[in-house]
Amino acid sequence: MTERELYLIRALSEANAPSGFEDETVRVARAAIGDVCDVEEDHLRNLYLYRRKHTGDKPVLMLDAHSDEVGFMVHSIRPSGTLRVVPLGGWNRSTLPGTRVMIRNREGRWIPGVIAAKPPHFMSAAEKERTGAPEIRDLSIDVGAASAAEAAEVFGIRIGEPVVPDTPFRYDGERGLLFGKAFDCRIGVAALLEVMRRIADEDLSVDVVGALSVQEEVGERGCKVTTNRIRPDAALVFEGCPADDTFGEPYAMQTRLKNGPMIRFMDTSVICNPRFVRYALDLAKQQRIPVQAAVREGGGNDAAIIQSQLLGAPAIVLGVPVRYIHTPACIAAAADYEATVSLALALIRALNRSVIASF
Ligand SMILES: [Zn+2]
Repeated sequence: MTERELYLIRALSEANAPSGFEDETVRVARAAIGDVCDVEEDHLRNLYLYRRKHTGDKPVLMLDAHSDEVGFMVHSIRPSGTLRVVPLGGWNRSTLPGTRVMIRNREGRWIPGVIAAKPPHFMSAAEKERTGAPEIRDLSIDVGAASAAEAAEVFGIRIGEPVVPDTPFRYDGERGLLFGKAFDCRIGVAALLEVMRRIADEDLSVDVVGALSVQEEVGERGCKVTTNRIRPDAALVFEGCPADDTFGEPYAMQTRLKNGPMIRFMDTSVICNPRFVRYALDLAKQQRIPVQAAVREGGGNDAAIIQSQLLGAPAIVLGVPVRYIHTPACIAAAADYEATVSLALALIRALNRSVIASF
């Protein structure tokens, strides 16, 4: 991985951009792509990347990655000055108490806070024994205010403002490991941007259009719009997807760190075009790119939207394995990001009108 790619992954991971508030991801992506592509944006903050070599008369291959992350929105300020929030996307709630967060205030600045956790010193015996994750509505975010009036006036807290974990990015270069937040899907965003950069001057048999779609974590909402605008003939969806190699039985593990991108046959939202899935798995094998096939029992992704809009373009998902997705602290591997870029490039160079027709 080049310094440029590492810098981009860091900037994307640290961008504060939960569902509905994707502006920072968009800003980082625009800066990273520069004038490599023609860039357009819609009111939702979906970002479209067109190659300079776009012809308009070849089959359209859409590359999708989502720009949002799971987060929260301020619901109200309690009399104590702590904040009640609603979730944006599906959290693992048991990881939340004690998490450092950033809240956007009235001036548009992100100020620090913590998700309050009662010190054991104040807990009753019954409270100490209580297990199970707290409800999000019962969590309190503390910015250090002493009252609701102070939170509003001095800290500039307003209802409707976004909240994300405050997780600095770390790179363990010796072991090729990435630590940070929002790898679902910023590592996919980084891979998409890198692919668009690398194919900028190539002559291809497809018109490749990149889309960073918003609000995936609250129901794949941005992708409905991007799909209708791009009208793809086929699609590659880049994802950060849950690694399963620290849970469960070895025989059933399908998404291990450092084993390449995961291509899913299905999840709870979609059965990916099985001919396209096999084609990608075969191509990876032929080109000696590590890849993992998976049958997912949970989850959802933008391929579900792409395959169900317009004429149902075949779509597959290239998922970078991420440990502890939808928590404030995730781990991914540089090698998996690189293999994802390699496989996407191999697919883009191999696809043409007749191959797509065979799906
Ligand atoms: Zn995702």
